[in-house]
Amino acid sequence: MTTATSTIRVERVQQSRLDEVDFTNLPFGKIFSDHMFVSDYRNGEWTDDRIVPFGHFTMHPASMVLHYGQAIFEGMKASVHEDGTPMLLRPDEHAKRLNASARRLMMAEYPEDRFVEAVSRLVDLEKGWIPPQEGSALYLRPYMYATDEFIGVRPSETYRFCIFTAPVGPYYAKPVRLLVEQEYVRAVPGGTGEAKAAGNYAGSLLPAHLANQKGFDQVVWMGGPDKNEIHEVGTMNIFFVIDGEVITPATDGAILRGITRKMFIQILKDKNIKVTERKITIDEIVAAADAGKLEEMFGAGTAAVVSHVSELQYKDKLMTLPPVEDRKIGPMLKRHIDGLRVGKVEDTHDWLVKV
Ligand code: PMP
Repeated sequence: MTTATSTIRVERVQQSRLDEVDFTNLPFGKIFSDHMFVSDYRNGEWTDDRIVPFGHFTMHPASMVLHYGQAIFEGMKASVHEDGTPMLLRPDEHAKRLNASARRLMMAEYPEDRFVEAVSRLVDLEKGWIPPQEGSALYLRPYMYATDEFIGVRPSETYRFCIFTAPVGPYYAKPVRLLVEQEYVRAVPGGTGEAKAAGNYAGSLLPAHLANQKGFDQVVWMGGPDKNEIHEVGTMNIFFVIDGEVITPATDGAILRGITRKMFIQILKDKNIKVTERKITIDEIVAAADAGKLEEMFGAGTAAVVSHVSELQYKDKLMTLPPVEDRKIGPMLKRHIDGLRVGKVEDTHDWLVKV
């Protein structure tokens, strides 16, 4: 790792809150660690990189992020190796994707080596906050937003980049029931769907709420001129196993380039399991289900790693997937990533970074 640029100032808390946390009962996303990393972009450069006590920001009412929505984020996890060393999985990929998002929203890019260093320094300081149980992790939230105090649509000239951390318990994802959504869309090619832009998530809330009201856990996001091409599921990429072949939609500008997705494709290739990235229509899935060839369907993402699909509703048709106990690919991929995170699976691609 390049550390030549390291100028991170560290201001520690006087009293850690670690003792107050019950690691056996962690609500997701509500407990935050003692410190956070902050950097500010002014006069064309990132300045004052610092790790400071976790706390509130003050905000000007005209702060541009509140009006024109220049806000992007990442979601990643730190875990502990069996030997006690804190580990990051693919921090370089998260740095790259943050900057791809920044370019799409006309925001300032944060140097990738400094991103990896900031995450590492913060995790090193907060290593006591990484929950010990297998499957638990210290969730990391890097994000950036526009801070110009200005009314008028143009890119902000100042930004804040921040990283905070939240210990999270094991994610016991129960199989999900999905609704194919053909009224609302998450993204279209040429839009902002490939960026991890905050606004994308705002737009997904209403369709997700309506699906919940009908008894579904999440929606399947569709695209294409007839909205018959499968894109993603909730906040995950989607995978199918049809007749022994693993298929995931090809990224087309509207699909988030998931880092879990990318690792899954590589793991499958390493194991000589046929994996194809291509356009997939819902009609094809219905045909496969009717022919008894739809063996697996799962979401892939940092939070759950694998989220199995139990049922899929398309118009009047309800498709039921085989029981999870009978599935091979999804459970294998989850075991692989969970094992990598704790050093039980060999890291053949150098995906892990020791802190
Ligand atoms: N799609 C969307 C819309 C997401 O929000 C996420 C979570 N970042 C993913 C896919 C999965 O991406 P990753 O594997 O990088 O977590």
